[in-house]
Amino acid sequence: MRLFDLGGRVALVTGGNGGIGLGMAKGFAAAGAKVMIAGRRAEKAGAALAELKALGAEAAFVAVDVTDEASVRAMVRETVAQLGGLDILVNNAGMAIRKRPEDYTAAEWHAVIETNLTGAFFAAQAAYPALKRSGRGKVINIGSMMSIFGAPFAPAYAASKGGIVQLTKALATAWAADGIQVNAVLPGWIDTDLTREARRQIEGLYERALARTPAQRWGVPDDFAGIAVFLASSASDFVTGAAIPVDGGYSVSA
Ligand code: NDP
Repeated sequence: MRLFDLGGRVALVTGGNGGIGLGMAKGFAAAGAKVMIAGRRAEKAGAALAELKALGAEAAFVAVDVTDEASVRAMVRETVAQLGGLDILVNNAGMAIRKRPEDYTAAEWHAVIETNLTGAFFAAQAAYPALKRSGRGKVINIGSMMSIFGAPFAPAYAASKGGIVQLTKALATAWAADGIQVNAVLPGWIDTDLTREARRQIEGLYERALARTPAQRWGVPDDFAGIAVFLASSASDFVTGAAIPVDGGYSVSA
């Protein structure tokens, strides 16, 4: 269906070398986009690139640390130079430090906020000129159930993911006149490296999340291909500033 066609468009996905970011990148590849995946660890990128190329996409990897503004600017420059422009930015790179608020150090607080929130702002700012030139720019920010709820082990993470939703709204209002739509996706509990670590740290997490999810399963990265293509394509041209849960019903379950 042409409405969802991404042929001729270039997508950049931070943290696209694994997990949810790769799930989204695969959606873009299948819909015809060229895809740049970005992350710190090049060794994770080989397998990810093989999956994207198997879908017929032109794909490449660029190393980035999203907490470093110069590195983020270089990531955008490299994407435009290698793939010929930039139409779609996904701010997906993220991390968590699970500790009660009273035990948090300043360094831990800054690490989480700078990766999850400041990194997304730097990337959106760096991408703006190219997105504006594109005339059909799209930004997709990755929030969380912690954009809505709180948890004792997530003070910085919840603050960063709540901030992502508000940043999404601010960017959406700022850039709508440039033809750029900015939306957030709020994943439920998804089986990735991030949550495998969480499951080791928080006893009973797997079972609790499962029991509250009406879909009766944890999500998988491939569950994000559809929403990614929708929010990156012309199908969503009048959707901006929204925060869309992709959670098997977790956030509407009592
Ligand atoms: P992963 O750990 O698999 O993915 C996180 C990605 O972010 C990695 O690919 C990592 O790449 C990258 N990353 C982390 N820090 C940096 C940095 N400083 N600079 C550049 N890249 C970085 O976990 P998920 O796929 O689960 O997480 C993806 C996003 O989804 C995150 O924003 C997370 O908060 C969010 N999310 C996940 C949920 C889940 O249940 N899994 C639920 C709600 C939200 P590298 O290691 O190479 O740097």
